[in-house]
Amino acid sequence: MSFKERLQRLRQALPEREVGGILISQPENRRYLSGFDGSAGILFITPDRAVMATDFRYVEQVKLQSPDYEIFRTAGDMVHWFGELLGGFSGRLGFEAGHVTVAGLRQMGEAVKGQNAVGLMPVEGLVEKLRAVKEPGEIEHIAGAARIALSAQEYARDIIRPGMTEKELAWQIEKFLRENGSQGMPFDIIVASGPNSALPHARPSERRIGAGEPVVIDLGARVEGYCSDLTRTLCPGSPDDTFNRIYDIVLGAQLTALAIISEGMTGEQADASARAVITEAGYGEAFGHALGHGVGLAAHEMPRLGAGSGDRLEGGMVFTIEPGIYLPGWGGVRIEDMAIIEGGRAVSLSKSAAGSEVRYR
Ligand code: ZN
Ligand code: ZN
Repeated sequence: MSFKERLQRLRQALPEREVGGILISQPENRRYLSGFDGSAGILFITPDRAVMATDFRYVEQVKLQSPDYEIFRTAGDMVHWFGELLGGFSGRLGFEAGHVTVAGLRQMGEAVKGQNAVGLMPVEGLVEKLRAVKEPGEIEHIAGAARIALSAQEYARDIIRPGMTEKELAWQIEKFLRENGSQGMPFDIIVASGPNSALPHARPSERRIGAGEPVVIDLGARVEGYCSDLTRTLCPGSPDDTFNRIYDIVLGAQLTALAIISEGMTGEQADASARAVITEAGYGEAFGHALGHGVGLAAHEMPRLGAGSGDRLEGGMVFTIEPGIYLPGWGGVRIEDMAIIEGGRAVSLSKSAAGSEVRYR
């Protein structure tokens, strides 16, 4: 799909949000609608205009990456140019409530103070909703990022040794990812060993990895802006009975979810499919986070697969399935793979943990 078509879909959604135009400043949303991957710029979109407001550093880049957009060159604080950017616009103007700062909103308000005909309206999730359903070209990039992440997990399994620090292993993995085609890191790699693995978002530390303990490795790659997100739990040496038991339950929950999740389900129902397996095994309390999240230009985006999520799963949505069990003092096991809704059901995009022998070294 071209950027023109994406713009068209956005314009069609404006009336239902009761706005006549919208400002897009969230970086991934801006990139999705324009192709511009620079770090500063605001899109001003109405039914008949598409403007990119950016400063002199990015003007040439915008000309190349976003030929469908008029360029409005900004200088200094927003309060000085925002009114001019809007030109003759009047009516309700949406802004991204999840991204605009209080200071930014104050400046915009000040700039349009004289123009009574402009009303600033907070809007949430508009472009995020469009982004949730992936086009074939996007799926190709995500699958490419998933392949790199999967080979990085295989590499981690090959080089992990008791006595290495978490930080050493994380750095070796990051090097591998960068050398094998990942454009930077979509998020900081997690390497959490022993009791540290009981913290779902632990940071790699100077702790030395011990034999026979769980090591949670959560990493992602980025290809053409698109992310992947994959977790494996390794065990260098011989796993104890707890490891074997917990690992089987988590893997069972993931495979159950992969088999059950289908088009039309809500995020809450998807989450419940895996949660039921873990709860039945007696570890419901130890699975304290959501089952998964959408992945695309951002490592975490719509839909949300978790309690209370009414996000409906549609064909072309890409998301993670990442159940986990965390036992304070012992450690944790999490297995995360990526799936896509295709032909009405969830299909693995990253070859699930059951298919790759990541379990022990
Ligand atoms: Zn992850
Ligand atoms: Zn994740």
